[in-house]
Amino acid sequence: MAERVIPLVDQRLVALRAVLPARPVPATGLVADARGRPLRDLRISVTDRCNFRCSYCMPKEVFDKNYQYLPHASLLSFEEITRVARQFLAHGVRKIRLTGGEPLLRKNIEILVSQLAGLRTVEGTPPELTLTTNGSLLARKARSLKEAGLQRVTVSLDGLDDAVFRRMNDVDFPVAEVLEGIAAAREAGLGPIKVNMVVKRGTNEHEILPMARHFRGTGIVLRFIEYMDVGATNGWRMDEVMPSAEVRARLAAEFPLAQLEASAPGETAERWGYADGAGEVGFISSVTQAFCGDCNRARLSTEGKVYLCLFAGNGYDLRSLLRGGATDEELASAIGHIWQGRDDHYSELRGTMAADTGSGGRRVEMSYIGG
Ligand code: SAM
Ligand code: SF4
Ligand code: SF4
Repeated sequence: MAERVIPLVDQRLVALRAVLPARPVPATGLVADARGRPLRDLRISVTDRCNFRCSYCMPKEVFDKNYQYLPHASLLSFEEITRVARQFLAHGVRKIRLTGGEPLLRKNIEILVSQLAGLRTVEGTPPELTLTTNGSLLARKARSLKEAGLQRVTVSLDGLDDAVFRRMNDVDFPVAEVLEGIAAAREAGLGPIKVNMVVKRGTNEHEILPMARHFRGTGIVLRFIEYMDVGATNGWRMDEVMPSAEVRARLAAEFPLAQLEASAPGETAERWGYADGAGEVGFISSVTQAFCGDCNRARLSTEGKVYLCLFAGNGYDLRSLLRGGATDEELASAIGHIWQGRDDHYSELRGTMAADTGSGGRRVEMSYIGG
């Protein structure tokens, strides 16, 4: 494994300037990008740190004890995050997802949750507020997160077999504690809960059926994610990707499935239902099936850069505007202008020359931008 790890190029140091456009872009809730796609979903990374070392995301060989995480002063404060999120909502965002790194490692995250829960969409409703976590701290935090206003959680879990799971998180973390976290989330009412499983051929594909058997009939939606070529450090290879079609065929051999309607435009997962009524499963096929056509997601990095695509090389630096005294209108105008210029559609270009992200092919790390 180690010999395939590629050295990290630090994309965090590269930033695009967020400019105040000569003609202001007021927040009307209707902003569209260069491909006509609206802005609906904001993913906020609250820390670049994590207590796991999943090899597909933060391989130990790179994220070792010498790795320089962002200094605290460069992170956006909760007040800054909330201020930016308010402007995104004014441009039409309806759903906010907190992520990381491991978001539950950010101190007092509940305070941020309660600030975000107090915001409103252009329709005057509270935003959908959710969080993606590795589940390691969930048993301790589920109740306080719910009380702060979090609506749902998505828990990442790559297998039920303890040995396989310990190997995949690469810090010897036991699967039982994540399962306890999921149970606590359910008890606290943080549902419907989703469980995300990255399937890596040769590593955990034998966990597909045990995971399905475990979660079907529980109301928890298991989603299979294709191992993606994000970042520059995981030594990604196509032959380790298990296409969703193959995962689905394995499942269908034991449990007949029928396709369900997408729940919302721009939804990343294809939904399938168990024919016997035992709930649904999802497939996120970012490698084998491009879904850029209605991608309505913006990502805010831990220190305030806006990324327009998971595979973008660079982000737009909003923090200098925030800390340089910009008004709310100016901030909204800068965000609107950035979105209007968005032409990203990496998954449709994957494997072609045009897939170069404009940064010499270098991309931002998943642990930094949050997935
Ligand atoms: N630490 C949290 C967690 O693991 O849920 C949140 C951040 S993590 C970067 C967000 C999601 O990205 C997780 O579900 C993880 O499995 C997924 N992910 C990370 N690297 C990936 C890769 N190379 N391919 C596919 N999914 C990946
Ligand atoms: Fe940490 Fe999540 Fe990345 Fe695993 S996928 S290393 S838990 S940030
Ligand atoms: Fe959206 Fe980029 Fe993924 Fe396409 S590749 S779906 S534009 S994040």
